[in-house]
This record gives sequence, structure tokens and C-alpha cells, in this order.
Amino acid sequence: MANKTASNPPKGQCRQCWYHAYASREAHAGLAPREDCRPCVDHMVNGHPHHMIVR
Ligand SMILES: [Zn+2]
Ligand SMILES: [Zn+2]
Repeated sequence: MANKTASNPPKGQCRQCWYHAYASREAHAGLAPREDCRPCVDHMVNGHPHHMIVR
């Protein structure tokens, strides 16, 4: 279970990026040590979709 901070992103934050930043271990559990996280890379390259931003 992710910690409280991870599951409660503040206004204006991207839920996915927040979760991946604060629950990095859980979010990236399936990745090899140096492997890129696809969702993280996608947001870095393409930006954060509006529906994932906390309002
Ligand atoms: Zn994002
Ligand atoms: Zn990630």
C-alpha cells in the first residue's frame, strides 16, 4: 500500500507523477534498476494529460 502522501497529491499536481515520485518503490516495482519507467517518460516527453491533474 502506498503511503499517504503518495495517494494524496495537492492541487495542480499530476497524479501519476506525484505517485511515481512519492511511492517510487511501488510504482516502479516491476522495473530493472536502470530501466526507464514508461509512464514517467511519457509525461516528461509529452506533458501531463489534463485528466491526471488534481483540480
Ligand atoms: Zn505527469
Ligand atoms: Zn514512474
